[in-house]
Amino acid sequence: MSERRIIFQGNRLWLAPEASLPEVEAELRLRLPEGHLALRVAEDHPVPEGVEAVGLRDAFPRMDPEAWARAGRASQWLEWAAGHRFCGSCATALEPCEGHGRRCPACGRTVFPSNATAIIVLIQRGAGAERELALARSPHFKPGVYSAIAGFTEPGESLEQAVHREVAEELGIRVHHLRYFGSQPWPFPNGLMVAFLADHLDGELRPDPAELEDARWFRLDALPDLPAPLSIARWMLDAAVAGKTDEPRMNTDTHG
Ligand SMILES: [Zn+2]
Repeated sequence: MSERRIIFQGNRLWLAPEASLPEVEAELRLRLPEGHLALRVAEDHPVPEGVEAVGLRDAFPRMDPEAWARAGRASQWLEWAAGHRFCGSCATALEPCEGHGRRCPACGRTVFPSNATAIIVLIQRGAGAERELALARSPHFKPGVYSAIAGFTEPGESLEQAVHREVAEELGIRVHHLRYFGSQPWPFPNGLMVAFLADHLDGELRPDPAELEDARWFRLDALPDLPAPLSIARWMLDAAVAGKTDEPRMNTDTHG
């Protein structure tokens, strides 16, 4: 495997053929477990000729999926390293320790790279031509786009408990028959999305106005605009439309 350099400026990826990425002065430099080098350059660093600085979402359609996944991993490692420079207990500067972690030389507190786990759940009711999906709109979605319900897990909670809590809080309904669909690292900025399918048990949709603009049941032949094809939400929706929700979709883009 050849070593690659993955360069970020803030949350923008430097997009260019590997051979044309110049040597740079980096403010953060990390050797990733898979061997590549992740670099973060200062916001005021000039963008070199032949390089484009592009947000990861915008970079998605322009990269092969494996390269995009690799850039997402680099982004998550850089994000963690940049956010864990000092001890959370006593504010002493942390030092590297085994297992890619960091240790406080003053109080011994140790931290290891981690991410924020979120669940996403696609809720179905009915069968055949009558099948419907519960989809919702968050105010920060693009106009017209609806998606599955998602939310972060809380400390001490299982994935299944998080699904039931989020569905109750955001939609006011209950679900059952949870099925694992797949997972996806989500580098905005440091998430892991764990996706489930579920069936409606009871209750009428009452979207939580603090989180959602709208939520409705949509028939498969009358779906609204859907999220971009980079997210597991969309993969699940595509599987539902194709009638293939019984085949788990694993994220296989894990080797770089
Ligand atoms: Zn400390």
